Amino acid sequence: MSRAEPRISFEYFPPKSEQGRVRLLQEVTPALNALQPAFFSVTYGAGGTTRDTTAGIVAAIRDADIDVAPHLSFGGDERDAIGALLDTYRARGIRRLVALRGDTPSGMGSATQLVYARELVAFVREHSADHFEIEVAAYPEIHPEAQSYDSDVRHLRAKLDAGANSAITQYFYNVESYFYFLDQCAAAGIDKPIYAGVMPITNYANLARFSRNCGAEIPRWICRRMEGYGDDQDSIRKFGVEVVTQLCQTLLDSGAPGIHFYTMNQVEPTRQIYQSLGL
Ligand code: FAD
Repeated sequence: MSRAEPRISFEYFPPKSEQGRVRLLQEVTPALNALQPAFFSVTYGAGGTTRDTTAGIVAAIRDADIDVAPHLSFGGDERDAIGALLDTYRARGIRRLVALRGDTPSGMGSATQLVYARELVAFVREHSADHFEIEVAAYPEIHPEAQSYDSDVRHLRAKLDAGANSAITQYFYNVESYFYFLDQCAAAGIDKPIYAGVMPITNYANLARFSRNCGAEIPRWICRRMEGYGDDQDSIRKFGVEVVTQLCQTLLDSGAPGIHFYTMNQVEPTRQIYQSLGL
């Protein structure tokens, strides 16, 4: 029996400027949609900081008849506000969500109370029954606040048992961490797909800073290579495409059910990686 085609999806964040919004909708989306992803997703600033911009981008993509999944977290919102947002998405023909706890945005201090993603998944099921396919987040290198490896796997299982359909991972560059994690999840009784999150490498300084915050490790050999390129952006991009294409190839060859690209709202290098894979 032949294996199912890998599921490919593309993630955006809501642009801050009108110019960024127009570029995303008129240039980036048609170019990436030509690659025929299963869906696009749009992140949500925890604490509801991008509630309107996320919903606006989602609506515009949906209006172009493209499948799109808003990310969502409780943040400081009451259940009624989240229920109303779910109803709006449903009326728009949205059928998929990415349900998260989120992080406290800097500057909001303890004003925002974080609610575990499991509670949001349960709320979506209670409010909207089976209307939405729900994705949750998973961490092959383990969430930075997790009490232990096993507890993080247990909490992932709890989110899936609460009604999520599948998980998408944080990005990683150590491919072994992903396959070990899949084995540990299977041993813990998880039988739903866990899609690999992949971050193309474009700006090394930003990536290094972001990775420190989210607990993703950049292997030493990649750091040293990147540092050696200094300000030579062309070499950084070329090496980034090479390394990430190799990572994706290994993932697909070894049975990953699909890849979720953190596009950073750029057409390249996601397109170059995608095309190098011959998908
Ligand atoms: P949870 O699943 O709630 O887990 C958070 C932590 O709490 C983990 O350490 C877990 O082990 C622990 N935990 C869970 N349940 C319990 C419990 N009952 N008791 C004790 N500990 C528990 N962030 C955004 O702000 N906006 C986005 O749009 C966004 N999109 C993302 C998309 C993907 C695919 C991924 C992987 C991450 C995304 N994030 C986003 C980041 C995410 O919000 C953070 O990583 C956040 O810190 C954790 O969210 P979560 O949904 O995984 O949390």
